[in-house]
Amino acid sequence: MKPMRRLFKQANIASQDNPMPAIADVLVDESGVIRDVSPDIPPSTDMKVLDCSNKILLPGLFDMHVHLREPGREDKETIETGTNAAINGGISGILAMPNTDPPIDSGGMVRFVRAMARDRSGIPVLTSGCITKGRAGKSLADLADMHTQGAVMITDDGSPVADPYLFRRALEYSRHFDIIVASHCEVPELSRGGAMNEGAQSYRLGLPGIPACSEEISIERDLRLAQCADARIHIQHISTARGLAIIRRFKEEGVRVTCEVTPHHLLFSDNDIQDYNTHLKMNPPLRSPEDNKALLDGLNEGLIDVIATDHAPHTRFEKELDFASSPFGITGLDTALISLFTHLINKGLIGWDCLVRRFASEPRRILQLEPADIVTGSTADFIVFDPNGRTHVNNSFIKSKSINTPYLGLELCGSVDMMVRGTEILLDRGGCRNEPLFSSKGGME
Ligand SMILES: [Zn+2]
Repeated sequence: MKPMRRLFKQANIASQDNPMPAIADVLVDESGVIRDVSPDIPPSTDMKVLDCSNKILLPGLFDMHVHLREPGREDKETIETGTNAAINGGISGILAMPNTDPPIDSGGMVRFVRAMARDRSGIPVLTSGCITKGRAGKSLADLADMHTQGAVMITDDGSPVADPYLFRRALEYSRHFDIIVASHCEVPELSRGGAMNEGAQSYRLGLPGIPACSEEISIERDLRLAQCADARIHIQHISTARGLAIIRRFKEEGVRVTCEVTPHHLLFSDNDIQDYNTHLKMNPPLRSPEDNKALLDGLNEGLIDVIATDHAPHTRFEKELDFASSPFGITGLDTALISLFTHLINKGLIGWDCLVRRFASEPRRILQLEPADIVTGSTADFIVFDPNGRTHVNNSFIKSKSINTPYLGLELCGSVDMMVRGTEILLDRGGCRNEPLFSSKGGME
């Protein structure tokens, strides 16, 4: 089929500048570039016209914290299934974490994974590398080689770099390569053996706790080291109010720190773990309702830079183990947007501007990628979202190979109807009626 122009009629365009979307028409030309965004673009016979009234167009989201499990644990996820889950959820680009098996800790591994991703993914898959060889925390990995092969971040995510000397050296080297050092903050000696947040709930359930101070002490240490090294640092999946207060202090002192929060740390607390549901077990663990509130405030204020899922697929067998034994982590790619829409946007707790800024614009800015704004002249990279739709989160909806999500079996508000990237339509649930404007000429598809 020859490429044609597409006209998205009467769409509500979400941007990082307005809490409420503004109505406009969007014309994407045959080369996949947005040619025009204006109030009323007249259709012509060479256009496919899609009625987007009551739909929201927003930039494709970018998730900078994803575990794809390939190579090594293809029973949990592959690059192909993981990126299909991303597309399913309205996420048009991801950054893969390096804690695969073997870990991505050399230039060769970075090259290998990038080549696989190019073959198997419909969306950009960026790659990160380990800070330490084998993610073992003993010696530094070859940062220069990984950077040369295209790694954009280094992190031992899943574990902290316990040795402050090594972490300091990594920060110092990183300045030469313009690569971001990202930190999973935890003091292993404090959280060892823990299964959930330490507090009244863990005592009640009789589960070993992970204290908030484990994360907070580590954030404090890493930011101080970044300050010493004058390096950029990104704090992954923050979960506590105090951790956020520490980040605020260092930001005020001029340290180049960014941080991310996951949808689940915004939407769930340890109070929700009533029946030992392993789909609420992750690391860092769900904290208190007060922490939820502080994270939401931090997001609205802009203290939190990024929303990222920490998509962590695990097999059904592993998640059916008892709470203390089952692995940490839940999936997020399929459900991040609809869960945030249902529980935050729909309730007026955040605006569309916050979502677009934190989940589309900032991750791309931090990683020095092209923005995905819906403006004239940029390559189309947006999704069509139906705020009146409903999504039943069941096995046929989920595209991830794993189903370890607390939303399994639930219905969420909103539906990702379509994903447009350049000339390609990567997802189309048929939510946008094709307008037969020129039926007399029979010129439509
Ligand atoms: Zn982590």
